[in-house]
Amino acid sequence: MQAGRRVLVTGGGGFIGSFLCERLLAEGHEVLCLDNFSSGRRSNVAPLLSHPRFELMRHDITFPLYVEVDQIYNLACPASPVHYQLDPVQTTKVSVHGAINLLGLAKRLKARILQASTSEVYGDPTVHPQTEDYWGNVNPIGPRSCYDEGKRCAETLFFDYWRQHRLEIKVARIFNTYGPRMRPDDGRVVSNFIVQALKGEPIAIYGDGLQTRSFCYVDDLVDGLVRLMETPPEVTGPINLGTPSECTIRDLAGLILEMTGSRSRLVERPLPEDDPRQRQPDISRARAVLGWAPSTALREGLVPTIAYFEALLSGADLPPVG
Ligand code: UDP
Repeated sequence: MQAGRRVLVTGGGGFIGSFLCERLLAEGHEVLCLDNFSSGRRSNVAPLLSHPRFELMRHDITFPLYVEVDQIYNLACPASPVHYQLDPVQTTKVSVHGAINLLGLAKRLKARILQASTSEVYGDPTVHPQTEDYWGNVNPIGPRSCYDEGKRCAETLFFDYWRQHRLEIKVARIFNTYGPRMRPDDGRVVSNFIVQALKGEPIAIYGDGLQTRSFCYVDDLVDGLVRLMETPPEVTGPINLGTPSECTIRDLAGLILEMTGSRSRLVERPLPEDDPRQRQPDISRARAVLGWAPSTALREGLVPTIAYFEALLSGADLPPVG
């Protein structure tokens, strides 16, 4: 992408969004960061506020928006099961009404628009690893449905705007991502385990801990998003972005205990309803179309992530990241 574009990042105050804002600024673009701070945090973008090409706007994308930009990244939506289940109606609204508002904006501006979709569109997958042509196994009426079905409907809207209005769309399906700037109360497994290990509290494993996930470091993920945005108009996706190296939740706990030097013990807690048993992206399409694959091993990415939480919990200045 040429430098000097005006880029809108919705959810720019969030964990992934804030890294994306930084990356776009570093590439010479103007960034309009939008967040309603329901799960994003001002502190994530506080260091950017003095940047001459950065602007922060508080806005909820379920309401229409009138701005002038060249490109839109739609990352606005709480993504942790704990957060998106707090107000499930709002979660569906953000996903669906939010997508309609932003697609309408993109149509008026003839702007390219990228949707941060999710591996949750595959639900509890019966195909493993998950390829983009797998339609998924999703419960439409369960506690995760507000997010899963909301994100699925958003994908439908993106593809209908593409078919009907020839809008330039890009759909990324993001798998589990971790890194600094996750909230300590995020509720997802990496942040929970690190916080519990650092506090010497028991590590709460949901179920038997043999369910799997594949954890991608945030820098790698952001690189994939930017590459996807820069593809030619005929590339719409969906494209899986995540790491193909899979591990059990129990192994993740072991690794975090070892790396933090913690003596926390493992305890089993009930498995949440509809918790997917396994998840691993097939990233052949991302490799072929974007020339992209994650380069950060889990052990390597956990180093700055643990350092971030150590600083956060000790009240020290947060370590520089990115
Ligand atoms: N999990 C866990 N302990 C926690 C948080 C999560 O054992 O404190 C498990 C959870 O049941 C799931 C996996 O870790 O099987 C990943 O959960 P997360 O909420 O991070 O993301 P998901 O991939 O389920 O959206």
